[in-house]
Parts: sequence; C-alpha cells; structure tokens
Amino acid sequence: MSKVKYYYDPDTLSYRKIEPKKSKKYRNLFFFLVGSALFGLLGLIVLLNTNWLNTPKELSLDREVRNYELQYEILTRKMNQMEQVLANIEDRDNNIYRLYFEANPIPEEQRRAGFGGVNRYNSLEGFNNSEIIINATQRLDIIQKQMVIQSKSLDEIAKLAEEKEKLLAAIPAIQPVRNEDLTRMASGYGWRSDPFTKARKMHWGMDFTAPRGVPIYATGDGTVKRADNRSSGYGKHIRIDHGYGYMSLYAHLSKYNVSKGQKVKRGDLIGFVGNTGRSEAPHLHYEVFKDEERINPINFYYGSLTAEEFENMLKFANQENQSLD
Ligand SMILES: [Zn+2]
Repeated sequence: MSKVKYYYDPDTLSYRKIEPKKSKKYRNLFFFLVGSALFGLLGLIVLLNTNWLNTPKELSLDREVRNYELQYEILTRKMNQMEQVLANIEDRDNNIYRLYFEANPIPEEQRRAGFGGVNRYNSLEGFNNSEIIINATQRLDIIQKQMVIQSKSLDEIAKLAEEKEKLLAAIPAIQPVRNEDLTRMASGYGWRSDPFTKARKMHWGMDFTAPRGVPIYATGDGTVKRADNRSSGYGKHIRIDHGYGYMSLYAHLSKYNVSKGQKVKRGDLIGFVGNTGRSEAPHLHYEVFKDEERINPINFYYGSLTAEEFENMLKFANQENQSLD
C-alpha cells in the first residue's frame, strides 16, 4: 500500500493530502510490471532445470538410464575379473602344464592378438553410448578369442598327458618275479664269468634265482612278440614289445602262459621259471631293450621296490660273481 502524504496549509489551518503526480504513478506501475516479468522468468528457468516439469514418461526413462549405467558398471567389474582369471590360467598353462609336457609356451602376441582388417564395430557407431558399447564388445571379443586359444591348448595338454600315461604304462618298470618268490638276485648286468666256460664275458641281463614253476610277470604293457625256444641259448623265452622302442625278454622258462600276438598289461602272468636253454640252474634271465640296444634293467624297477630292496638288489647285481646265463 502506497503511503499517503500530508502537508500543513496555513490558509485553511488544516492538513491536506498531497496528491501524487500522474507521471510518477505510471513509473511505479512500469517498475512493478518489469519486476514481475523478471521474477517470472527466473522462476521458469529454475523450473526447467528441475524435474518438476518432466512428464511421468520422461521420469521413467531417466530412471532406466540410471539403471543401465549401474548395470554397466557391474558388468565392467565382472569383465575385469574374467580378464584376471583368464590371465592366471594362461600363466599356469604356459609355465606349468606346457612346461611339464615339454610343449612350447603359446607366445603372448598370439594370445593377445586383436582382430585386424575391417572395422567390426561399424554398426555400433553413431549413438550417444557408442563408445562404451564398442569398448565392452571389443573386450568381450578378445576374452572370447583368448578362451578359444586356451581351450585348444588344454586339449593338446590332455592328449600329451594321455600319451605320457601310455608311455609310463608301457615302460618295463617292475621286477618280473615277486620278491617273496625269489631265492636271490643272482647276477646283474655287466661283465661276469660264464658259468660254462668260466671266461669273462658280458652278461646282458639280470638273473633272478627262483625255484622252477615260480610265476613271471610282464613288466610293462605291450604285445607278445615271441613265445618260443627257437633262439639259441635262451631256451623257452618270451619277448614283449612295449612300443616307444622298448622290449623286454624273459628266458629259460619252464612253461608259457601267453602266446604270440597276445596283448598284456603290466603285472600279467606270462610264464613260469625253468631251466631250459643255456642255463645252469632254475632262474629267470631278464633283459630290457631300448631301440634294439640292450640296457641295464636295474634302472627300471622304480615302480615295485622299496628303497631298501633296491639297494640290496644293486649290491647283488654289482657283485662280480658268476652269472647263471
Ligand atoms: Zn642271465
């Protein structure tokens, strides 16, 4: 409310109202209108910058975008984890598994190789969110490719492991006669005096003294190559081909328990101790061949003997005694 002003009129001896000038009235009105307009405009600006004017649909879209952002953040963390786990598997693959099976490690460049040539992400370009979508797609593509490489490598390792298992099963690795059936280990591989001529000569195998009829076992998986007495000196004897260049020979048998062509497993009963061929007393003469060369069988008993038994055998085998041939 505008103030009403008065002045003292000495002529009438009374207070009289001062009437405002008309121009001043209009000026006040003008200021009032401009002020209101400015205030209104300010209000509008504030309103537009808040959600008060958004429609329910806009509000719901806004919430969805926020949710997408949150979910994307979570997915990014998961991708980080996947990359770390994969890197760890690759590391073990290169430095343990492949090393163990003497396979070459897969070079880093090969594991990390990207996708050359055309832009695979053309269709994802031109949107507000293109950058994050392309980035995520690219990372997942690389993870996928690394997984394929890793999976192939593990296939290869599994195959090598299977081969190694076969090789380990094939190598002649146990004693052909059980310890409790053994009278003694008569003679080892090396220079020995011949039981018949008494001359020093090379003894190419090991002699196990045991009574006639004691069981003889295959020392590794393989195929019976021969079971006959048509080889001079050996009498009734068996040869087992183990593959990988290995062969074992069992001589002076009294009886066979297998025939030519038969497949045998390590530990299978193949025949019985005897005294056939060039033999002085019942015993098993045992030889191991690698690539057609005769080698010392004593190096192959790691599968069946205790440390003490092995030491005893070594002691006997190294004695320069007379072989039983
Ligand atoms: Zn012998």
